[in-house]
Amino acid sequence: MTIENVFVNGRLADITVENGHISKILYSKRCVTPRVIDPQGPQLWMAMPSMTNMHTHSAMTLLRSAGSGEPLFSWLQNAIFPREALLTAEDIYKGSKDACEEMLSSGTTAFNDMYFEIESTLRAASEKGFHGNVALSVIDRDFENGNVENFIKNYKRLSAEYPTLSISLAPHSVYTVSPKNLQYAAELSHEYDTLFHIHISETLKEREDCIREYGVPPVVHLDKLGVFDKTGANFIGAHALWLDEDEIAILGKHRCNVVHCPNSNLKLGSGFRFLYTELRDAGVNVTLGTDGCASSDNLDMLEAAKTMSLLQKGIRNDPSVLPAEETFTVASANGRKALRLPDNSISEGNVADFYLVNLNTLPFKGVEIDGGDHHRIHTELLNRLLYAAHSDVIDVDRFNC
Ligand SMILES: [Zn+2]
Repeated sequence: MTIENVFVNGRLADITVENGHISKILYSKRCVTPRVIDPQGPQLWMAMPSMTNMHTHSAMTLLRSAGSGEPLFSWLQNAIFPREALLTAEDIYKGSKDACEEMLSSGTTAFNDMYFEIESTLRAASEKGFHGNVALSVIDRDFENGNVENFIKNYKRLSAEYPTLSISLAPHSVYTVSPKNLQYAAELSHEYDTLFHIHISETLKEREDCIREYGVPPVVHLDKLGVFDKTGANFIGAHALWLDEDEIAILGKHRCNVVHCPNSNLKLGSGFRFLYTELRDAGVNVTLGTDGCASSDNLDMLEAAKTMSLLQKGIRNDPSVLPAEETFTVASANGRKALRLPDNSISEGNVADFYLVNLNTLPFKGVEIDGGDHHRIHTELLNRLLYAAHSDVIDVDRFNC
């Protein structure tokens, strides 16, 4: 199929998709009239690489907005764990399916999930054509009651049944998993070459408790246990909000991935001074996530991207930090790198995993699309998409393989 009148990197083009790949991008020589975007004018689109939600608990669509106003620890104890105890495998399947639909409608086609009953999530995600990683969330008792053992036993069968998704363990955090079990999970990650998905340094309390119990902050604690030696680029640390210089250096040295979840962190009052520039410059692959719907209330990556960019400008008193183009790279390419998914930037030969932005909408009204300065046009369209639009400008028809 060929999609006409699409802006690709600031140039008008027709994109042909065959067998799940972009086979041809034919840049147009024709003039666009009118010379500025007019919602009533000819239909125009922009193609954008689909985004990757790098930390979520999909089935938490069932617990949307639960316990609003409570900080993380009491929120977990009072609002989340009692509700989760009542969920069946079928509930989790339905909740995950809703989550995938919600993510698709806002331009996201891949995720890194963390929950229990992973077969339910795998089934929902594969039915919706999702890619990425589904991780079994485990705490200490799961190492004793056979859940981790079952994971190992079922690993091959599930990997064969759901070949478009990867499967891994997710030790919940340093405060719910003992040093011994963290080491064991890291060894399994090494042995099976799977991802290692964990909440890390989400709150100041987590950091202070870790120092009190083990004498060092969470990242140093994991390093001392040898976790990074075993996991390296398979390590995905969600939140990573309360870090010092030494911890950033450790994460960079091992080429780890971290996931910023700005809306969830703000809603739970966990903090907002995410050290984006420092982590990036140290060699950490910084990615973006929404977290589950109980804390971020929606799964809208466009909204998360906007919050992330604005927070960086605000905390550094510098509007040039994290511009739109870099923010979209964090939200898509960086996540795909962490999940080992193929490049979905819009070029010939790449997988066709992109969404279309409807430019005949108010946020794009008046953008000059005349002339040969493609970079200027591209930057302006990206700025409008990130800072002015909502995800309702995203067309849900997509072309992923
Ligand atoms: Zn989480």
